Amino acid sequence: MNLEDIKAVERLLSTPQKIVIIPHKNPDGDAIGSTLGLWHYLRQKGQEVWVISPNDYPKFLKWMPNNDQIVNFEKDNSLAKDLINSASIIFTLDFNHLGRVGQMQTILEEATATFIMIDHHQAPSDYAKIMYSDVMLSSTCEMVYNFIEFLGDTDKITPEIANCLYTGIMTDTGSFKFASTTSRTHNVVANLIDNGANNTEIHNRVYDTNTPSRLHLLGCALKNMVILQEYRTAYITLTQDELDTNNFKKGDTEGFVNYGLTLEGIYFAVIFIENRDEGIIKISFRSEGDFSVNEFARDYFEGGGHTNAAGGKSEKSMSETVKYFESLLKITSIK
Ligand code: 5GP
Ligand code: MN
Repeated sequence: MNLEDIKAVERLLSTPQKIVIIPHKNPDGDAIGSTLGLWHYLRQKGQEVWVISPNDYPKFLKWMPNNDQIVNFEKDNSLAKDLINSASIIFTLDFNHLGRVGQMQTILEEATATFIMIDHHQAPSDYAKIMYSDVMLSSTCEMVYNFIEFLGDTDKITPEIANCLYTGIMTDTGSFKFASTTSRTHNVVANLIDNGANNTEIHNRVYDTNTPSRLHLLGCALKNMVILQEYRTAYITLTQDELDTNNFKKGDTEGFVNYGLTLEGIYFAVIFIENRDEGIIKISFRSEGDFSVNEFARDYFEGGGHTNAAGGKSEKSMSETVKYFESLLKITSIK
């Protein structure tokens, strides 16, 4: 963040504002951790603040301090709209174009508030007056830590803020193992632990919450895995029927896509998940090394993300989607 923007934020926050903070649709650990972490920080500074999520999020994130105060746009629609319309500042966290908020897009496009973006994805669009965008950083939670530091407030990091920010850094770095994890990331995490983040408990709450049906669904996913050694690719499909049979709950498929990458000689892993309600196949892409799944998702599946982790969607049927995907492998170099 440049000095001019930091000064502008300081000026804005020196008077009482009505602030709304928004994560992307289907928020993950980084999206919920960063929005709630920022919420705690801004409340402490005496601001009126709300987090509005475009939709619901998984149970393994529902323990975070004050997560029960998050307004769900789908459930509490008129309250959410009123808050957005009367906001003076809207922070958008962990996404960088307004297409990522689903049904909230139109109301955000029409909002008169000053937009502040904090995000680490590639190719940001230009809706925000103040942009803190850096693709080199591990997570939006690490960026919120930096944001607090820019404002000279690291001494204001409470255990609540520390627990929220630790969670997003942990989930977005694959527990501190992805290439985006730097010594600075570890320094930030160390400071968060010093300020009250309970690392062991957070890990247990996020990762040790399996249910029998989730493990059965994982079994189904792994059985369905197709391994294409010649394309160094492995992909998984899950149809709506398979989800229903295994009592699918939001968040159950989190992490499934990564199994493909644990195979020797596989550098590209994909999962296709049917969502009959939305009439789409939701796709997650992961890679190891230089192959950019961000570009692949952007070019072929209306998506995007990072070099090694991206998402997208298809409006074709599952079999058509997979056929199209396999045809793309023939013209793609994966190494
Ligand atoms: P996931 O596969 O875990 O849902 O997402 C991986 C990464 O890609 C995340 O950083 C997420 O924000 C991004 N992503 C997921 N789906 C989409 C999408 O439909 N469009 C864009 N632009 N990014 C996505
Ligand atoms: Mn993130």
